[in-house]
Amino acid sequence: MSIEIDREKCVGCGSCVGICPGGLIRLDDEKACIPQPERCWGCASCVKECSEEAIALFLGEDMGGLGGRMTARQEDTLLFWTLTRPDGTAQTLTVDRRDSNKY
Ligand code: SF4
Ligand code: SF4
Repeated sequence: MSIEIDREKCVGCGSCVGICPGGLIRLDDEKACIPQPERCWGCASCVKECSEEAIALFLGEDMGGLGGRMTARQEDTLLFWTLTRPDGTAQTLTVDRRDSNKY
């Protein structure tokens, strides 16, 4: 389980560096990177933190996935999770954070 960082989208704000509970993300040349991706346990904190949707959770076979990627975008209390399948098709799920205790 791991994340993937799109260095083209990364603006080097550093928010993901501070949010990772394992201290796994660093800035290198003002872009985020994860030198030891095998240590990531997929908590998705950095995915939700990145306002540029530059971090994706990789949904590999170890998660029962087929290689898709999941990114997140926030607007007020709404969290939009976009799943992009390996064939490029995408689906977005919306979760209202005020309802998070329902799940
Ligand atoms: S939060 Fe996103 S934009 Fe900011 S440093 Fe991390 S990957 Fe780059
Ligand atoms: S998913 Fe969690 S553990 Fe993995 S790099 Fe992001 S914040 Fe760290």
